[in-house]
Amino acid sequence: MAVTSFFLILAQSNNPHNRFCFIRPEKQHTAQFPLQYVKGIGPRRAEELAAVGLHTVRDLLWYFPYDYLDRRRIIKIRDLNKYLGKGEHVTVIGEVYRFEKRRAYRSDKTFFTLTVKDESGFLTCVWFQGIKWVEKAFETGELLSLSSVPSLDRLGRVQFVHPVFDRLKGGLEEDEPDWGSLFNTGAIIPKYSSTAELTDVGLDSRGFRRILRTTLRDFRPHIIETLPPDILSRHRLIPLIEAFDNIHFPKSEALLDAARKRLKFEELFFLQLMLAMRRRVIREDVRGIAFNISSPLARKLADSLPFELTKAQRRVLKEIAADMESPKPMNRLLQGDVGSGKTVVALMTMLVAVDNGYQVAFMAPTEVLAEQHYRTLTAFLKDMPVNVRLFVGGQRKNLRVEVLEDIRRGTAQIIVGTHALIQEGVEFARLGLVVIDEQHRFGVLQRATLREKGIHPDTLVMTATPIPRTLAMTLYGDLDISTIDEMPLDREPIKTAIRLEKQKEKVYTFVREEVKRGKQAYIVFPLIEESEKIDLKAATAEYERLRSKVFPNVRLALLHGRMKSDEKDRIMLAFKNREIDILVATTVIEVGIDVPNATIMIVENAERFGLAQLHQLRGRVGRGADQSYCILIADYAWFDRHRKKMPEYEVESEKQKVRVRLETMVTTTDGFQIAEVDLKLRGPGEFFGTRQSGIPGLRIASLVEDSALLVAARQEAFELAKLDPELRRPEHQAMRQEFEALFKEVLKLGLVG
Ligand code: ADP
Ligand code: MG
Repeated sequence: MAVTSFFLILAQSNNPHNRFCFIRPEKQHTAQFPLQYVKGIGPRRAEELAAVGLHTVRDLLWYFPYDYLDRRRIIKIRDLNKYLGKGEHVTVIGEVYRFEKRRAYRSDKTFFTLTVKDESGFLTCVWFQGIKWVEKAFETGELLSLSSVPSLDRLGRVQFVHPVFDRLKGGLEEDEPDWGSLFNTGAIIPKYSSTAELTDVGLDSRGFRRILRTTLRDFRPHIIETLPPDILSRHRLIPLIEAFDNIHFPKSEALLDAARKRLKFEELFFLQLMLAMRRRVIREDVRGIAFNISSPLARKLADSLPFELTKAQRRVLKEIAADMESPKPMNRLLQGDVGSGKTVVALMTMLVAVDNGYQVAFMAPTEVLAEQHYRTLTAFLKDMPVNVRLFVGGQRKNLRVEVLEDIRRGTAQIIVGTHALIQEGVEFARLGLVVIDEQHRFGVLQRATLREKGIHPDTLVMTATPIPRTLAMTLYGDLDISTIDEMPLDREPIKTAIRLEKQKEKVYTFVREEVKRGKQAYIVFPLIEESEKIDLKAATAEYERLRSKVFPNVRLALLHGRMKSDEKDRIMLAFKNREIDILVATTVIEVGIDVPNATIMIVENAERFGLAQLHQLRGRVGRGADQSYCILIADYAWFDRHRKKMPEYEVESEKQKVRVRLETMVTTTDGFQIAEVDLKLRGPGEFFGTRQSGIPGLRIASLVEDSALLVAARQEAFELAKLDPELRRPEHQAMRQEFEALFKEVLKLGLVG
């Protein structure tokens, strides 16, 4: 599917000369050599390598060490006690002296010990897990590097628990450095990650070192410089071949840094080049609609608003208007924090299209949200002659038929729906504008399908998940970006607090008081997909308890995703009309609900929510002029109850992450700042959910840490795409080959669909 969608985008170019067609390469590229033919690999190893996604010589060259063994971090066993209690990882190099599996004292648990020696003494290492594997892992006399945080055993001796180890020499290697004099040479030894299966065929870290040495030696002529000399010199980048040499076998710390920089640039440059090409293909050949932007309807709406538009809203509207006026199809991302007023901006945009006699498709990621938008829109437009229709799956058949007919005839002017609007056989009479409320759930594919439908309508994508600029550039590199970076003035900042499970009574008392003052509250429970049934049961039981025991004289209702859509509607409407005081809900309310009188958000089991989710949830309050509160109830014990499934260190690092998440919520309400933290904690893949992310697996560059390099690479890539849009110039042949190789990979990773 990914493949077709990409070519679908490329194929939108009407001009045959602008299509991509790759000419035959002059010199064979490293991506054209299957790994099987590398000396020392062979079919069996190749098969295991393929299982971890390494197929060609190019893949192997891009398989970078996860760490390096640096002599400056190697210490003698005798000196280990100096590092006790510092929490620092240190490395020793030692020979295997003896090892054994043992039984714990008065218990049937087993553990494994390994004793290594260097010229200064002996060190014992202990394993409590994975014993089956480690007991077969070692040979007496073999040389290892071992890294861990030193601790004391019960008898007060220094030990390593679960050290990371790497085999250094086993009599097989002729061109490895002289380990005896390692302390004196400047050698930096790469460490490669491996799997049990790879280790079985001899490809542990040492095995990788060996095949990489061979590859770098035998395939040198095929590692062709991809970047032109002027780009290299402008950014002080070392040649590609030197970068590969030094990322794998660094000659010095400085060269390792230079290699990293070059490869990061390389990675970001090609990513941006792809986006530049896609953008070109999407926009330049196609003639869209030039709207007349003086719109009486939009004017009327602006005049009828009970508030002034913020400066940011007005600026963004100007940017959108300029796009609409131009005959090029608009491709714009409208981003802004929850509650920053994107909906009004989008609505003004829609009215311009309506005034020009065009239809508008407004798509939301879920039916609940589509219904919410529909309600909001009809409320705003109640005194205006605009025909707004809702089109969702839950509708009765004859109503659907009627709506479809209205869309086809053109009497329906604004149609609100889910992606069903583009997937099912919906025929528009005159589709001119598409507004997508993305909530980061729609991919590029939907946008492409849409463009196919209409006569190249203008497209406005709204996102409520603020995206750090660097990431926005990557994820939406083919869109122009408008940002509402200012909140409406009359808002009190929401007060956020963390409370522990045992402090809940106090929280309830506070809620009771606020309800007495006429305020409304949300109490949200986690509902995680993998444990949906259990979670739903827990939430329902908790609701019963709250209703009968905690808030007996208060009107409560339960809302969750499994309910029928008219049932959900009924409850939400009742909440909006203040017939319900406390809405107990699972995360279905995460997006879109707008009830200004609700001022309290209680999040139960807050430790189980991601930052972006917490931020969205908090955005449900603070929508009116009154002081709002968000109380995050954390149950750290949850991890202890679930620790059986997790190794010790993972429990600790999870707890640490939870703390950072919750504390970030307390210290800031700025969605952009929150998104940056989130991205750092989770990495871009997870940040957007891997499948929809559209972000290729970056090997070395980080979208957060390397933003300066990303900006530079983007500029160069876009410049180059302008200069030589089809990479036809002879001096760009190597770039073109790399681009094609990467394309295949990117397609596999689903970058484009
Ligand atoms: P978003 O979609 O960005 O989360 P909304 O458009 O739903 O935000 O706006 C949140 C609330 O603020 C709505 O009730 C909206 O009517 C109101 N609002 C929008 N713009 C302004 C403004 N400039 N001043 C005051 N309130 C505003
Ligand atoms: Mg909104």
